[in-house]
Amino acid sequence: MGKNLKLLEELQGIDLKLDTWRGEKDALLSEIEVLEEKLEGIITSIALKNAGLVTVEEEKLALEANLAAEADNIEKSEVRLRDIKTQKEYQAVSKEIATARKIKGEMEEQLLQKIALAEEIKASVLEIEENSKTMTVQVASQKVEIQAKIEKLESGIVTDIATRQSTVKSLPASVLKRYEMLREKRQGIAVVEASNGSCLGCNMNLPPQVYNNLFKGDSLIVCPHCQRLLFLRKDQAEN
Ligand SMILES: [Zn+2]
Repeated sequence: MGKNLKLLEELQGIDLKLDTWRGEKDALLSEIEVLEEKLEGIITSIALKNAGLVTVEEEKLALEANLAAEADNIEKSEVRLRDIKTQKEYQAVSKEIATARKIKGEMEEQLLQKIALAEEIKASVLEIEENSKTMTVQVASQKVEIQAKIEKLESGIVTDIATRQSTVKSLPASVLKRYEMLREKRQGIAVVEASNGSCLGCNMNLPPQVYNNLFKGDSLIVCPHCQRLLFLRKDQAEN
């Protein structure tokens, strides 16, 4: 195998490893993102429930104010009732009082419902907050684990990039450019083995002349179907 081709094959090995590691790193980073989104979701739901609680508390206060006003009206009417002289007026005020009592009763009923609702929301907020505490601890330890994996990957990546740089230095710029273009256009595989007369990159048969040229091993041979650079395994080349 020619020197450049050998370097390219090495380079591709490094690049494929880098691709895998970078992919793994991205996957780990999105795992962290998912965990953080989960926590954010809980925080949002607590905020929504608390906002709902504020509304219910406001409605409670308004009801209590109306109730107090209604009770006051009833009391005043009852005082008036004592000084009334005519039967007709007495009946009218009595009717007013009865109506006011009915309204007051309804408002008391509503107030009880609001009190129960507020308690329900408070209990559910407490429950979510408890869960979120547990989850925050879990997420933090998961993040530490994931971060450790990422750091390990990163140190591998750094080492590989250094190896890559020294390999790249020994290659002519034009060969490197061609390799990089091929990798981009051919799913990361620019250099591929030829075996039994076929290109293992696209699985097409190679013209006999192309295949035979591979055994000479001096220049870069290209698959006419997928344009990848071809090489022979050592044992095959020597046979
Ligand atoms: Zn091919």
